[in-house]
Amino acid sequence: MKYIYGPIKSRRLGLSLGLSLSANKVCDLDCIYCQWGSVGKTVFKREEYAKVSEIISELKSWMEGNPQQTKELKFVTLSGLGEPTLNTRIGELIERVKEATGAKIAVITNSTLLGDPLVRKELLKVDLIVPSLDAVNPEIFAKIDRPNSGIKLNEIIEGLVSLRKEFNGAIWLEVMLIAGLNDAPGHIKELAKVINRINPDKIQLNSPVRSTAEKNVFPVERAKLKEIKRILGDKAEII
Ligand code: SF4
Repeated sequence: MKYIYGPIKSRRLGLSLGLSLSANKVCDLDCIYCQWGSVGKTVFKREEYAKVSEIISELKSWMEGNPQQTKELKFVTLSGLGEPTLNTRIGELIERVKEATGAKIAVITNSTLLGDPLVRKELLKVDLIVPSLDAVNPEIFAKIDRPNSGIKLNEIIEGLVSLRKEFNGAIWLEVMLIAGLNDAPGHIKELAKVINRINPDKIQLNSPVRSTAEKNVFPVERAKLKEIKRILGDKAEII
């Protein structure tokens, strides 16, 4: 299978099947913590990186081969190898996956294209969006997420603020915390102010546990994560 991964069972989503919108890693960031490794170049151009018809036909053949799991499926999660919103046909894919499975749809995005009203509109029919925001300071953002030169952090932040106003589903904002890079109290306080403006339903605090694209990328220790959670308030949880 080129586009399907899982399914996996989680406490938060139940049984969920992952769908990638490209066969290889296609991303506009080159995060130092990426579990897929670094591909050395980022892309910023939206294209049909994988054909919707191919993804849907793979999904349908998975469903035929797995009738019991298909019945139990709670979510289909669009993420996979890179950034799903770079695929120009994501809106159509969302409609066709809903039609084929009847499951809820979640999108995991790095938020870089949320400043574009068209991209936000394409996501309006999903049930859950899990956008990331690792930094609110451009220097820290550059060190951790190594963005394509076309990406502007302030556009990401304003895109997230607009998304909240336009989208009626749930938003679980994810922050990847890296020891020594974005976990200083000053940065966390600035992050808290921006997150208040975004007003997500949940704030998910993560720290790398799998293999990372670069060496020397360290997780934040538990006690510090708890302190960060305290600063960010009731919506924050450590995942
Ligand atoms: S946004 Fe996701 S896929 Fe892209 S480089 Fe970062 S971690 Fe990897």
